[in-house]
Amino acid sequence: MPAESSKLLDGKRLALQIQEELTTQIQTLQAEIGRPPGLAVLMVGDNPASAAYVRNKERACERVGIASFGHHFPTEVTFDEVKQTIHNLNANPEVDGILVQLPLPPHLDATALLYEIDPDKDVDGLHPLNLGRLVRGEPGLRSCTPAGVMRLLAAYDVELQGKHAVVIGRSILVGKPVSLMLLAANATVTMAHSRTPDLAAVTRTADILVTAVGQPGLITAEMVKPGAVVIDVGINRKEVEGKACLVGDVDFASVQPHSSLITPVPGGVGPMTVSLLLGNTVWSYKQRRKASYNS
Ligand code: NAD
Repeated sequence: MPAESSKLLDGKRLALQIQEELTTQIQTLQAEIGRPPGLAVLMVGDNPASAAYVRNKERACERVGIASFGHHFPTEVTFDEVKQTIHNLNANPEVDGILVQLPLPPHLDATALLYEIDPDKDVDGLHPLNLGRLVRGEPGLRSCTPAGVMRLLAAYDVELQGKHAVVIGRSILVGKPVSLMLLAANATVTMAHSRTPDLAAVTRTADILVTAVGQPGLITAEMVKPGAVVIDVGINRKEVEGKACLVGDVDFASVQPHSSLITPVPGGVGPMTVSLLLGNTVWSYKQRRKASYNS
């Protein structure tokens, strides 16, 4: 595939378009329901990256008209205090979504806290019930980053049925759910990971290559089949010419000419994650309205 035919999958633009659609939807629904959708983001400690992500999410909420019910705990908060806050938010009828910003300090068991969230308010889609729904192909809240990847592929009309998708990374957050979503879209899916012996041999067979590792420069041109669609989920902080910047797992300059479509970092999957989080909150808001009609 010649260099000039490679196009960017513009997650930033699509994410803004999704936010505009959500703003209109919320305006209409709010008149009917009598309150805006509500999202609670719980953060513990002062990790600067987490603080930036949380700020980003809260600003996006404000833009589309979602009320924020955030809690920022000091690092030394106990498990029981966070758990009690989650229970209060579960019971709060104005809250449609609850999200615990990861990572947590080592004394807090993130998985155990996840179990405390009402699965119907689990807008990160990481509760075992929602992961089970994904495995079974039942409707439910889907994790935001994988759902963002699928939305991006759909927006650019990327054919998945019968194609070979290779996913690198097997985390609960990205690798596993995105593999299941690609499978549900009838792709033939291969999962690769840190113990895959010859990664390049696997990636070269991919029509669609999704990388979610967290290692800059992992994917180089010779690892990509000409004309492949490349989705770079990785976010890595790197110093380039004395300036801090974000890069993905893909060596963008060398891989772009080989691909037919490729996500930039930043501006690819990252902004989609936030918009899908807002979308999940609105989905939950609508489900709750339906449930109240039926009760
Ligand atoms: P993780 O550390 O939980 O998982 C990394 C995975 O990469 C593991 O499954 C591991 O087996 C695999 N891996 C490690 N080294 C490898 C190698 N050399 N070859 C092949 N596979 C290898 O990470 P995660 O939470 O899944 O996140 C992955 C990346 O995606 C990170 O850079 C993270 O910052 C980023 N991320 C981005 C978004 C977004 O919104 N764009 C959201 C979540 C995560």
